[in-house]
Amino acid sequence: MAKFKTLDDLPADLTGEVALVRVDLNLPMKDGSATDVTRVEAVKPTILELAGRGAKVLLLAHFGRPGGQRSSMLSTSMVVGDVEAVLGKEVMFIPEITGPVVVQSVESILRAGDIGLLDNTRFWPGEEGNDPNFAQAIAAHGTLYVNDAFSAAHRAHATTEGLAHFLPAYAGRSMEAELKALDAALGAPQAPVAAVVGGAKVSTKLAVLEHLVGKVQHLIIGGGMANTFLAARGVDVGKSLCEHDLAETVSRIMDEADKAGCTVHLPYDVVVAKEFAANPASLRTCNVHEVALDEMILDLGPQAVEALADVLKTCRTLVWNGPLGAFETEPFDAATVALARTAAALTLEGSLVSVAGGGDTVAALAQAGASDDFTYISTAGGAFLEWMEGRELPGVSALES
Ligand code: ADP
Ligand code: MG
Repeated sequence: MAKFKTLDDLPADLTGEVALVRVDLNLPMKDGSATDVTRVEAVKPTILELAGRGAKVLLLAHFGRPGGQRSSMLSTSMVVGDVEAVLGKEVMFIPEITGPVVVQSVESILRAGDIGLLDNTRFWPGEEGNDPNFAQAIAAHGTLYVNDAFSAAHRAHATTEGLAHFLPAYAGRSMEAELKALDAALGAPQAPVAAVVGGAKVSTKLAVLEHLVGKVQHLIIGGGMANTFLAARGVDVGKSLCEHDLAETVSRIMDEADKAGCTVHLPYDVVVAKEFAANPASLRTCNVHEVALDEMILDLGPQAVEALADVLKTCRTLVWNGPLGAFETEPFDAATVALARTAAALTLEGSLVSVAGGGDTVAALAQAGASDDFTYISTAGGAFLEWMEGRELPGVSALES
């Protein structure tokens, strides 16, 4: 793994230091309050550790998409109450990001161990433009930079990347955990490695598939993507969600997998229905070659799941993105739930390192009750997918020393 500094590389006593800490406080809101504070929970250890060691902590975060101008509804003051509640500490809102108001707050109001929250980084065009002058002006308010926002690390913005060029840079605890888990899954994993790639469409995950065939020994295809793979192999998938125009792309991926010694697993049996509804009357399980013209494939079948469970039993590492079926609607969550439980059990036994990510994947694993037993679940949507594509994340590269 590329080397980066962590809070362990800082002196125990941080009195006199001002830590600029990039966090993800882009909380889902309803009627002016947060509906989920998971993101605050994730950065709590870093904030409390820095404050506990005597640093003045200045939090930097974006909130929504203000597009480079101020907007009162998108001020980070909207979430300051939620942050205080999770931290159990007072947080001073500072309605600027640079200038005399920040200087005065840091020098005259905040004391060692106090926490301030600057306004939405994206109110200033220099943030998304990664303007070095803007980054330098922010850097002038601190003595060190901590990035604890892996979920924003795929963006080269002033506070996710630029600041690292002006201040000593460290990964926060949540960033550190994420990077270690991802490294164990695809960076330097124990073989054999299995990847589950599911979800709706091949087209949104082409780069992921192309990267994985060269990295893993078993590529398990589920969800709507499996239909596209089956169709490319001449299987009639009826009315299923399917990208018929991608047949050639799929054949190329299968060839690349073949050359790289990666086995691509497609289902033998599937769960089909004539209408997409909960527990429809037309529900049945059949061999993939028996799907009728007016049916659609909505989940993998039980035989497929059993075969995939056997594959996982031979593997040491699993990386998972995308549900195996239309899991939001009963009973098309069955394959995802069953395989997730197998992976969770193998992880508990200590025979598998399991890492998963993706918006719907996180929801599906929670629905299966498997989340706690996976080795690591990434809640960083875009950044996780770009990492699965093998891309360098600018926010991570900037921390490397
Ligand atoms: P993630 O957010 O974890 O990256 P995706 O957004 O790629 O996952 O895919 C999730 C969506 O794929 C879900 O809404 C699910 O219902 C859908 N899906 C999975 N299998 C099928 C299928 N066979 N037919 C239609 N939709 C499917
Ligand atoms: Mg999704």
